[in-house]
Amino acid sequence: MDIMKAAHVLGPSDVQIKNVEKPQVGSGEILVSMKACGVCGSDLEKIYGKYSQPSMRLGHEPSE
Ligand SMILES: [Zn+2]
Repeated sequence: MDIMKAAHVLGPSDVQIKNVEKPQVGSGEILVSMKACGVCGSDLEKIYGKYSQPSMRLGHEPSE
């Protein structure tokens, strides 16, 4: 099982880095290894409780 790290919002102001299983890549898909990513406004809204989903991942702003 391949493992990667992911930043999860577990509740208001509660962010934890967890080891998670790497996603399986399907036909015509690629898996990109990110070294760094930004935190944008929608990530901050998740961190400060403006969304109510149980466990949300951060990091949709990739960087070089
Ligand atoms: Zn964004």
